[in-house]
Amino acid sequence: MGLYFYNSLTRQSEPFRAIEDSEVGMYTCGPTVYDFAHIGNLRAYVFEDLLRRTLKYRGYGIRQVMNLTDVDDKTICNSMQAGTSLRDFTQQYKDAFFQDLDTLNIERAEVYPEATEHVSQMIELVETLVEKGYAYATDDGCVYFSIAQYQEYGKLSGVDTSELQHGARVKHDEYAKESVADFALWKAWEKSDGDVWWNSPWGPGRPGWHVECSAMSMEYLGKTFDIHTGGMDNVFPHHEDEIAQSEAANECRFVNYWLHCSHLIVEGKKMSKSLGNFYTLRDLLAAGYSGREVRWVLMGTHYRQQLNFTFQGLQDARSALQRIDDFVLRLQENAAEEVAMTDEVKAEIERAEQAFCSALEDDLNISRAIGVLFDLVREMNRIMDNAEIGQAVRKRTLDTLRTFDKVLGCLHIDGEQQIPQEVQRLVEERQEARKNKDFQTADSIRDQMAAQGWIVEDTPSGPRVKPQ
Ligand code: AMP
Ligand code: ZN
Repeated sequence: MGLYFYNSLTRQSEPFRAIEDSEVGMYTCGPTVYDFAHIGNLRAYVFEDLLRRTLKYRGYGIRQVMNLTDVDDKTICNSMQAGTSLRDFTQQYKDAFFQDLDTLNIERAEVYPEATEHVSQMIELVETLVEKGYAYATDDGCVYFSIAQYQEYGKLSGVDTSELQHGARVKHDEYAKESVADFALWKAWEKSDGDVWWNSPWGPGRPGWHVECSAMSMEYLGKTFDIHTGGMDNVFPHHEDEIAQSEAANECRFVNYWLHCSHLIVEGKKMSKSLGNFYTLRDLLAAGYSGREVRWVLMGTHYRQQLNFTFQGLQDARSALQRIDDFVLRLQENAAEEVAMTDEVKAEIERAEQAFCSALEDDLNISRAIGVLFDLVREMNRIMDNAEIGQAVRKRTLDTLRTFDKVLGCLHIDGEQQIPQEVQRLVEERQEARKNKDFQTADSIRDQMAAQGWIVEDTPSGPRVKPQ
């Protein structure tokens, strides 16, 4: 059937045609590094990773660019409050962001441009917009994009500009649909910006958030590229503004496919600090869950559906992954003798491979793809219950799982199981206690591990840790 994506711009599912198969250009709005990423942000990054891996699985080359927003209203405000320079303040969250990517086994993009390193390109873009009559400077040294000059404003978000008050302006990086107005491309320095400013033809100041992504995507992907992604909250104003700036400046189409993921909520409610249901990845690791389990949960709901994150969901992820691990272990046991692959087994594996691929091709239908995986586990377990199977079948099935894992990124067929650091520390302490024949401590550590959902088995080659 070929690869299909739901394009938010046209509001329909469309066959994917790359500009060049050898290198699909993809821009993903990255983190605003003013705090640790929360699991909602991470949902967006896991969805983008699934998209990236699926494109690679289908044989496309890829050039993914993910920006780091290290200057905007929020980063400046929080760094001031912390009494730290903007650079030092954002660096800690950049580092934390990359740690989170690794914990969730998210593949690295090809380029991570930082906004503060691209201010000259942003100024150039604003100059072009002024020259072409799409932007104007105000007496206070700011530059605004004039929505009235760009006829197609609203085509992504469907926002209505007919009631727009002439000359109404909005300076904040984030604003609601009700405040649709000329938006800031360049903001003149204000006292609250402290020492954050760059020189520009309009005096000292800093770029607006939206222009950052237009300038950086153009720098690394050209004027027109294949895919642009983000969370649904980015559609307006951020992506609408990106389209306006880029298409007005370059006089050509900006992006061919827009993909947006829906939001994550927690136990049925909007995630917010005031409700006490706000989680970072660190919070979940501290509660004894692994990156692998979190990845499974964040990936498991179709990206255009709202994801209701629950602790029961994390427990379910643990059992699902355990079932797969047990299956992998069973396949890795030595076969008594070589038994030829039967037509039944061969057909089962081939059917699974095809179904897995076509599920993903259908706008990344992950639930169907995971369903295919579990059908294979069930069928192969049934076959193994009834008959001896040989090395060839075992190897073929493990190869299929390895291929699936290129997209899923959490099956652990060859590697070690991911055990949370805290649990790993307990295992080591327990080993130490056992060495010292302090069995009482060893047992109490075992209980502590059990309370966190982990069991330890002592095998001749050392302790083996498994989720309960
Ligand atoms: P930010 O760091 O706020 O710029 O957001 C980074 C990414 O996370 C963007 O693609 C947002 O659209 C996305 N995002 C923010 N909140 C959520 C949420 N609750 N669920 C899913 N994605 C989100
Ligand atoms: Zn962006």
